[in-house]
Amino acid sequence: MKSGYVAIVGRPNVGKSTLLNHLLGQKISITSRRPQTTRHRIHGIKTTSEGQAIFVDTPGIHANEKRAMNRYLNRAAGTAFSDVDVILWVIDKPEFHAEDELVLRRIRQANLPVILAINKIDRMEDKEILLPFLQAAEDEFSFAAMIPLSALRGLNLEELETTLFQYLPEGDLIFPEDQVTDRSMRFMASEIIREKLLRSLGQEVPHALTVEIEEYKVEDGLTRIRALILVERSGQKAIVIGKGGEVLKKVGERSRLDLEKLIEGKVFLQLWVKVKEGWSDDERALRSLGYTD
Ligand code: GDP
Ligand code: MG
Repeated sequence: MKSGYVAIVGRPNVGKSTLLNHLLGQKISITSRRPQTTRHRIHGIKTTSEGQAIFVDTPGIHANEKRAMNRYLNRAAGTAFSDVDVILWVIDKPEFHAEDELVLRRIRQANLPVILAINKIDRMEDKEILLPFLQAAEDEFSFAAMIPLSALRGLNLEELETTLFQYLPEGDLIFPEDQVTDRSMRFMASEIIREKLLRSLGQEVPHALTVEIEEYKVEDGLTRIRALILVERSGQKAIVIGKGGEVLKKVGERSRLDLEKLIEGKVFLQLWVKVKEGWSDDERALRSLGYTD
């Protein structure tokens, strides 16, 4: 048997979480177009007849280190380069950006097999540019493999999986074979609600938003969840609630449907919105909200 850890790294928005969900065949990491969608390290566990690959999804590397939240995100992303067996580096175009230099520097230090996934080939019009890029990439780093794929459409994912298992060390299963993530249902619930918020809101609110589960209990087959949505200013609270409560209602309905799928049972969900000034730039507030290393 093979078993080991695979860190999924790369800039924000290249499709790391989408790729993880498709590899697992189940949604465990939330995705959206907004920056800061992934804020935590999340383990996704894939067990096959060959063994077990434990994927570590990470927030992308964030250029601005000033705010406490960004420092936290960079710590969470940075630690992914140690204590793993394979690095899966995702880019979303056949080209390297200035921010990719940071990743290159880290993989050169890490001394691990690195697989380069060139994602979103479904929207690549000119496939001719791929070959020269692969040659140029080889000059930058000696990759274990370079695989063009589409996480969203599921293109070339079997090839990625086969390659990954080749580079995992021999070993017994680390987690029980039916376990898909190391995160609790409570955590998954807060993430699902955050995803629906990110997808329903404009540019201004996402950074200022977090979700805290105040109550999670199962009674007579019904899961009761009470969640608190924290924002930084009263203007943001008004946006989250929407005219006549419309936005919050829609977020609640969509979250409940996803939660019922995940839990495989009925869910009663209550959402509240509260202003907590400056929580995202306050180390102590961050820790108390679960942003701990
Ligand atoms: P992350 O920040 O790297 O985790 O990126 P996400 O997984 O959250 O994805 C960012 C955006 O890219 C989302 O809107 C995804 O739907 C989109 N996306 C991811 N993979 C693909 C792909 O293969 N093709 C296309 N067209 N879009 C994708
Ligand atoms: Mg992500």
